[in-house]
Amino acid sequence: MNKLGLHAYGWAPDWTPENAAMAIRSTAELGYDLIETSTMDLKAFDVPATLRELERNRLGIAMSFGLTAEMDISSGDGERTARGEAHLLDAISLARDVGATHVCGILYSAFQKYATPVTAEGMRGSISVIRRVAEKAQASGITLGMEVVNRYESNVLNTARQAINYVKEVDMPNVKLHLDCYHMNIEEADSSEAIREAGDLLGYFHTGDSHRGYLGSGSVDFPGIFRALANINYQGPITFESFSSAVVGQPLEGILGIWRNLWEDSHDLAAHAKAFTDVHIKSAREALGCQRH
Ligand code: MN
Repeated sequence: MNKLGLHAYGWAPDWTPENAAMAIRSTAELGYDLIETSTMDLKAFDVPATLRELERNRLGIAMSFGLTAEMDISSGDGERTARGEAHLLDAISLARDVGATHVCGILYSAFQKYATPVTAEGMRGSISVIRRVAEKAQASGITLGMEVVNRYESNVLNTARQAINYVKEVDMPNVKLHLDCYHMNIEEADSSEAIREAGDLLGYFHTGDSHRGYLGSGSVDFPGIFRALANINYQGPITFESFSSAVVGQPLEGILGIWRNLWEDSHDLAAHAKAFTDVHIKSAREALGCQRH
């Protein structure tokens, strides 16, 4: 059974104790299994308050983020790479302390639009840092998800094929692909085929439509996506990620280009996504059954 998750940006732009409590309670009430939070300010993260709310609401947690340019482990620059490794190791400690099972996102490079391709030296640096971070994560049972993103957010992993090669180079059992159908819709020739190719290496999945608004209201082929996930018997988390200028502010608004207000009612958006995901998982399982008869 897949754990169904919701990104906390659906509720609030930050993880203050008040907003975290509201986001955790609201996510649990809708029947989700986990909440995904993205915070770069690890020192400001209130671990006891978060743990208390997660336990009270019987909700799991996943963490995601992208490195900054000053922490870019794919830069080939020693100081930036060292800062990135330190941040990743601190993030693993925090994930362990709040009981997170998955740490994902753009962990392998900065989260930015690059002007030049990654160098061979930068690639080697990224792979060796991720391997060391994975060793620490493994001790706490944490899986690292390398999120494959579109060309405007990284120059390292833009397709599932590139990520398969990358995680094979890292060669740690807890380093997996994190695919997101919003990004795949931009970069892959065939998103369903990319999921099938990832197979057992897929460790985390983001749902999001082509404009990152309500699921099913854009151009992503969700029946095809969920059938591919069923085909590979994917058992990991499926987390819905959506952004509206009604909730998210800077700096994310600027990095992701969230200029449009696609929704205002967080509760309606999240309730709809949960129902939509449940239906598509069920339909895909039934489709597999039909193929067997
Ligand atoms: Mn994503």
